Amino acid sequence: MHRSCSNCAANFEITPDDLAFLQKLSPQIGERTFALPEPTICPDCRLQRRMSWRMERCLYFRTCDATGKKILSVISLESPFKAFYHEAWYGDTWNALDYGRPYDFSRPFFEQFAELMRQVPLLALSITNVQNCDYVNQVGFSKNCYLIIEADYDQDCLYGYRIFYNKNCVDVLEVMHSERCYECIDCAKCYNLRFSQQCTQCVDSLFLYDCRSCTGCFGCVGMRQAQHCMFNQQLSKEQYESHLKSFDPCNPAHMNAARAQFEALKLKHPRKAFIGEQNENVTGNYIDESKDCSSSFGLRGCRDCRHCLYVREAKDCMDYLVWGDRAERIYDCECCGHNIQNLHFCCDCWDGSHDLLYCFQCVLNASNCFGCVGLQKGKYCILNKQYAQEEYEALVPKIIGHMQKSGEWGSFFPTTISPYAYNETAAQENFD
Ligand SMILES: [Zn+2]
Repeated sequence: MHRSCSNCAANFEITPDDLAFLQKLSPQIGERTFALPEPTICPDCRLQRRMSWRMERCLYFRTCDATGKKILSVISLESPFKAFYHEAWYGDTWNALDYGRPYDFSRPFFEQFAELMRQVPLLALSITNVQNCDYVNQVGFSKNCYLIIEADYDQDCLYGYRIFYNKNCVDVLEVMHSERCYECIDCAKCYNLRFSQQCTQCVDSLFLYDCRSCTGCFGCVGMRQAQHCMFNQQLSKEQYESHLKSFDPCNPAHMNAARAQFEALKLKHPRKAFIGEQNENVTGNYIDESKDCSSSFGLRGCRDCRHCLYVREAKDCMDYLVWGDRAERIYDCECCGHNIQNLHFCCDCWDGSHDLLYCFQCVLNASNCFGCVGLQKGKYCILNKQYAQEEYEALVPKIIGHMQKSGEWGSFFPTTISPYAYNETAAQENFD
């Protein structure tokens, strides 16, 4: 079935398989299942909308609204939103339930949600479980890092983007399970590797491209299990060491000459049409160790996912931007992860949260909540107001009915109520 995007007018397809998948992801409230409507806008417009809620690197100095201290934040001082330094936000000196209010059936849901967001303190930076990492954003489970963005499980790393499980790495992009790497892109399980791209299990080497299990190599392309090779030529250990001794990475002339020779060699080698390994039935690019995933990019360890971007370890997800780390049944969400299930239309919800609809920054096992902001461990809340289970299960279906009538049900939060200016967000970086 072809559809015309109601936003950009592009044609896009919704297959019977997509409809069955939507049915599988439909949220449950109590005993009732609520059907997800077909998307009315194309996958690219849906991604752009999610990205307009993703702030990565426009960081401002401001005062913390809890402590008055000078902090770094994604919320500028001019912004109408309140920001708490993460230690204050995760602390017990405030309670998000104090901002609760009843649902008003005479007004659209998004209008009420936008008002709530302007009153509840937001996290100054999107971080969880970090130590000595005051200048990072979109980071979790890390220690002693500086200016890393979208990163988890890193230690002593500087200037990295989308890096996971690394130690002592500097200036790296898309690097995982590596140590002592510098200026590397898309590398995994490497040690002491520099100026390299698309390498796995390479050690003590410089200027490698698409190499696997190489040790002590320089300027090589497409090599497997090589040792003491220079520009794809086999040298003896002594020859290699003598060449390496004469190379000074601090000398621009040496660096320029090495780069030029390396780039020339790269051009001679055919490139793979698809980047990724150990997959079964996947479409997209940069996918590893995944099965039955379509139209997705930057996946690792995923099953049954479609239209997902930068997601690791996830199952049964659609329209999901960033993260994972044991995530199941996630639909139209941004920046959610770490042991999460059944999230729909949520942003920044993590650490054991499950069964949430339209929530922002609800964390630490928050569950069965609708339209909430900043809840930690909350349950059966609507617009930050506490209900009994029976009340919650009776009221949410009425709100969904109200949103179906207003046309709000089944879509992520609109760009117009994002806490960030559009030109600060990932949407600006990727779509304009
Ligand atoms: Zn569109």
